Amino acid sequence: MRKKILVTGGAGFVGSHLCERLLNEGNEVYALDNFFTGNKENVVHLLDNPYFELIRHDVTMPFYIETDEIYNLASPASPVHYQHNAIKTVKTAVMGAINMLGLAKRKNAKILQASTSEVYGDPHVHPQPESYWGHVNPIGVRSCYDEGKRVAETLFMDYHRQNNVRIKIVRIFNTYGPRMHPNDGRVVSNFIVQALQNKDITIYGDGTQTRSFQYVDDLVDGMIRLMNNTPDNFVGPVNIGNPGEFTMLELAEKVLKLTGSKSKLSFLPLPSDDPLQRKPDIALAKEKLGWEPKINLEEGLIKTINYFKTVV
Ligand code: NAD
Ligand code: UDP
Repeated sequence: MRKKILVTGGAGFVGSHLCERLLNEGNEVYALDNFFTGNKENVVHLLDNPYFELIRHDVTMPFYIETDEIYNLASPASPVHYQHNAIKTVKTAVMGAINMLGLAKRKNAKILQASTSEVYGDPHVHPQPESYWGHVNPIGVRSCYDEGKRVAETLFMDYHRQNNVRIKIVRIFNTYGPRMHPNDGRVVSNFIVQALQNKDITIYGDGTQTRSFQYVDDLVDGMIRLMNNTPDNFVGPVNIGNPGEFTMLELAEKVLKLTGSKSKLSFLPLPSDDPLQRKPDIALAKEKLGWEPKINLEEGLIKTINYFKTVV
């Protein structure tokens, strides 16, 4: 029997890769999206598949469907987009979680929440294990996203404790790959697009802040393992990220080398509350999921650059 799987945010960057992989594994997949940051183009190649449906809907409104599993990804993810309408970002995180958890409860479906490394804020513990409670500004410009995702985690845990809903929480670290929106403002897409167009590479701050970048296929693999290969009494949260840590200057150098671009670096002010460092501790994912990333930064950047060459 094919599983019926709902993917909210299914027309987004990560969601489209997840839908593709779930369909390839023989499931029936419903992608729900309001097309705020995602678009039909990301899933147009799936529309001919009779086991795929694309549904225009906003997760802040209730939604009912027969489903066995839910992956809750609906949320803008890039700082530029989630700050564009901060109130809507909080609503999407909180009301979206309530609506999807209500659906999971009603249908006895298993539900996975796409949480984020942003729950650790600007961390004082490095690398970040799941046991770290984080260092988050509750009233800053990133709070709509960080606190929204933190409340969503709370709601997931409370539906699990109070209503026995089968939940999984994944904390996703910076992820990149084909189908990132060229203008979404995240660093990997920005640098690649700038390099391909021989425009200045925009380094925010002095470029010594670090991030750990994972290729999207590794993330999708980790999410599916968490959903399928762990017992119901293991709910997470689990970090899924690549522990390779790079400064933004190092990232810029790699992108320039791999594109052969002549772009110059230009230094712009560091946005407020921008975390100084970030790197996942993935011991738990290794132990519980038998998961670790397979694609290193250079390999992943080459695939991503090849994609952006076709769209910019
Ligand atoms: P994305 O912006 O490409 O995808 C998000 C999708 O959600 C888009 O298709 C958008 O239209 C949709 N969406 C937004 N608000 C919605 C709403 N109210 N109702 C229905 N759909 C809505 O971003 P992404 O990188 O694919 O991120 C997917 C998920 O993973 C997000 O929940 C994000 O917070 C999480 N995440 C991503 C990263 C990353 O580095 N990519 C890191 C941590 C967490
Ligand atoms: N950044 C940068 N230039 C850009 C875009 C981002 O130097 O054109 C920096 C940003 O200040 C941050 C890091 O790159 O320190 C990662 O930013 P991104 O928006 O990709 O993700 P997040 O801050 O949410 O990890």
